[in-house]
Amino acid sequence: MTAWDAMAARRAGVPVFAPGHVWLAGAGPGDPGLLTLDALAGLAQADVVVHDALVDERVLALAGPLARLEFAGKRGGKPSTTQADISQRLVALARAGKRVLRLKGGDPFVFGRGGEEAMTLAAVGVPFRVIPGVTAGLAALAAASIPATLRGVNRAVIFAAGHGADEDFDWTALARTGQPIVLYMVMHNLERIASALMAAGLGAQTPAAVIASATTPKQRVLISTLEKLAADARQQKFEPPAIVVIGEIVQMRARLLGEDVSAAKEPP
Ligand code: SAH
Repeated sequence: MTAWDAMAARRAGVPVFAPGHVWLAGAGPGDPGLLTLDALAGLAQADVVVHDALVDERVLALAGPLARLEFAGKRGGKPSTTQADISQRLVALARAGKRVLRLKGGDPFVFGRGGEEAMTLAAVGVPFRVIPGVTAGLAALAAASIPATLRGVNRAVIFAAGHGADEDFDWTALARTGQPIVLYMVMHNLERIASALMAAGLGAQTPAAVIASATTPKQRVLISTLEKLAADARQQKFEPPAIVVIGEIVQMRARLLGEDVSAAKEPP
């Protein structure tokens, strides 16, 4: 089925990408099956697709034959393009009359700097729309058979970034909620954050997981405890991009997979 066939199945019709407009869209975590139909419509109609490093090649392959692919983002943790440069590039392309698809991994407004880009576009009057995407935090949990919420287990889910400008973030406040914590961009700070959460009272035996490259052929899942997670991840060479989830919901995986629940726990 081509992208157009898939879109033709839509009852409400396909949104039309006007020249000079920017669509700020989420590409989802990797698997093209998790793209929205609106993002697909953007890929099929765009003149230029400005994407970041996390956008899966299988998703980029859905771009129309005349679309130009432009990489803008970070590679290997090194900023190859500054945020201001990217925003200015979007403005310049739109002003040149292009249909500009700004495609970001996951959801553009979840730890994706999409907010900054949207603000620049708004400030200079470039018309744009935002198309949400399936964020890695939710997709990785689902891919690992870990329910994000379960009645009787939790009634909130916390999404937090494991690194950012604000290094004196209040981990204690998060730990106190007793609700599961889903961490993005955390692999380099895992040891430190796990220690901070334990110092704040989260039990060392709290179930915890790392889900790397979720929904891609390279997906790997590690089940451990808060205390052992960083060491296990290091020893087993888990690499970014990865989502970490800490909380009792991790244990539900064993039940969903029909495994012995105790097998997911570390011995005391
Ligand atoms: N806007 C994105 C997040 C960008 S921040 C979203 O909504 O998903 C980058 C972080 O996202 C990575 O460090 C990693 O924590 C997470 N991530 C993105 N894709 C992922 C994937 N396929 N598997 C696991 N984690 C992923």
